[in-house]
Amino acid sequence: MSWEQNVRCVEPYVPGEQPKVSNMIKLNTNECPYPPAPKVQEVLSQTDAERMRLYPDPKITDLTEALAHYHQVDPAQVFVGIGSDDVLSVAFLTFFHSGKPVLFPDITYSFYPVWADVYGIPYATVPVDEAFQIHPEDYKRENGGIVIANPNAPTTLELSTEGIREILNANSDSVVIVDEAYVDFGGTTALSLVSEYDNLLVVRTFSKSRSMAGMRIGYAIGSAKLIKYMSDVKFSINSYTLNRISITTGTASVQDDAYFKEIVARVMKTRDTYVTELRKLGFVLPDSKTNFYFATHPKYSAEFLMTKLRERNIFVRHFKKPECISNYLRISIGTDEEMEALVKALKEIMEG
Ligand SMILES: *Cc1c(COP(=O)(O)O)cnc(C)c1O
Repeated sequence: MSWEQNVRCVEPYVPGEQPKVSNMIKLNTNECPYPPAPKVQEVLSQTDAERMRLYPDPKITDLTEALAHYHQVDPAQVFVGIGSDDVLSVAFLTFFHSGKPVLFPDITYSFYPVWADVYGIPYATVPVDEAFQIHPEDYKRENGGIVIANPNAPTTLELSTEGIREILNANSDSVVIVDEAYVDFGGTTALSLVSEYDNLLVVRTFSKSRSMAGMRIGYAIGSAKLIKYMSDVKFSINSYTLNRISITTGTASVQDDAYFKEIVARVMKTRDTYVTELRKLGFVLPDSKTNFYFATHPKYSAEFLMTKLRERNIFVRHFKKPECISNYLRISIGTDEEMEALVKALKEIMEG
């Protein structure tokens, strides 16, 4: 008998690499290439280290209220956490307690099965079709909860609000989580359904569209009832989740909507320009509703291209598993200059 027999063994999620390289073009973790709102820098400059003596506000009141105001909901309908990964993890732990399998697509954010495993939640993956589309009718079976990333990652594709509604209509007995990490880049939000369905939880992040991945801020919006259950679980694990600086800078970000809209529009413009360039190079990819592309090439393997790009200090993401996406590259949208450099590098690689 060894203590190791009593260990909770898990196969962890592997986040995208954060290489310690200077002058790299980093297109591998869907960060925003532009800085956060000027007001964020301003608040940061005014921060006094002396205040660090004190615990932060466990209720995260300022940021919760700013988000409630921004989305026109009651503060009791907002849950804030340490990035949406934390929010999703708390939601899994809170809502998926039935013993029945939680459903999510087979091609989606690969953290979902990891949370299910670490919490001992049974799950079943639902195949997307050959074009990677999600079909709502596949979610009309017994389940202990449903998770849909919308737009989906890494496919960049969107399910319509009607599709989400169809899933909700068939599943009043389980909590439906819609992970909207990328919705700001031209997707349609399910937030309008929150007032109709008290079992819908919409999850958002500051990491992509708000240029604040380093501050770890995420949130969820749902019925006050859902949020109260999540809050009870959070306060049973760690009262002080967000640190002081994340709270103040996050609040500043929400208050500068003009900058936010400008940045998101810029990323979308670059995305829609360079999709044409990639297609000219022979890549096959759908129109993206996110801040990244999901592209495959009929002549060059994804692994080859990734390796060759890496030699040139250009980082993109490639998933070896599952098999059906192993020949795709996930390429974050950078600045126009970065995308220009990417296209140039790809041309050189393909010319051998
Ligand atoms: C990036 C991402 C997240 C996690 O974002 P954080 O807020 O940085 O934890 C969650 N879901 C999806 C689909 C993502 O792509």
